[in-house]
Amino acid sequence: MRLVCIASGAGTRWGALEDDGIRLAPSAWGPIEPNLADVYETCAQLAKIPLDASLLSARRLAPVPNPPQLIGIGLNYRDHAIESGLPIPLAPITFALFTTSIIGSGETIIIPPGSIKVDWEAELGVVIGREGRNIPVESAMDHVAGYVVLNDVSEREIQSAEGQWGRAKSFDTFKPMGPWLVTCDEVPEPGNLTIELRVNGAVKQSSSTRELIFGVPELVNRLSAYTTLKPGTVISTGTPPGVGQSRTPPEFLRAGDEVSVTVERVGTIINPVVTVGG
Ligand code: ZN
Repeated sequence: MRLVCIASGAGTRWGALEDDGIRLAPSAWGPIEPNLADVYETCAQLAKIPLDASLLSARRLAPVPNPPQLIGIGLNYRDHAIESGLPIPLAPITFALFTTSIIGSGETIIIPPGSIKVDWEAELGVVIGREGRNIPVESAMDHVAGYVVLNDVSEREIQSAEGQWGRAKSFDTFKPMGPWLVTCDEVPEPGNLTIELRVNGAVKQSSSTRELIFGVPELVNRLSAYTTLKPGTVISTGTPPGVGQSRTPPEFLRAGDEVSVTVERVGTIINPVVTVGG
């Protein structure tokens, strides 16, 4: 099932997207994140709700707009570690991201005033369903609700100058996510998905999640060894080769660009780029 969030008045509603309509969750169910704790029971209840075709034209938001945790993983593709001139990590490189940076597909990435090195990173996002701590690899997938497509937009000057990555990757609008949450039953092999990023139609990144150093079960296992993973937590699993700063010559996003990210079986997000304040 594909779960979407849509704009409704001043707030948000969520539901299940089908080809000819949306099954809208009752407002009494609250935000989407807690309802991912038993995602298949949630899907079964949604399936009983009539389709509303008029909602297909509603503006879509990020499918998990307020995750309790937004966790970044660095250098998790073998080829990307090599192109960055850095050793293959022995453990997942983890950093915290601000959830206020999340936007949906179609929304605008804003280049901060004075920034000239804003870069792209295509990533598979894992959404936690069932809460857990010290989750074994063998049962890790029982805790995953599904997947989203992410663009881990990064301000490279700040990233390299500050020695930590959180601020450089957490500017408002820097985390496009979408276009929906696809439940795990539709993605039987998360470790075998093509992943691609284009800028103005030109392919910049093209790889497969086969190249992940730490796959989805390993990430859930290792992260949960020290932090409780909550329903709705999003893990951005890292990016393959082809980021702008590693290209010859380096390339960065500019006002007027359009950047798209596609993950096989999950979907495509498309975001225009603008600049403000010079
Ligand atoms: Zn990243």
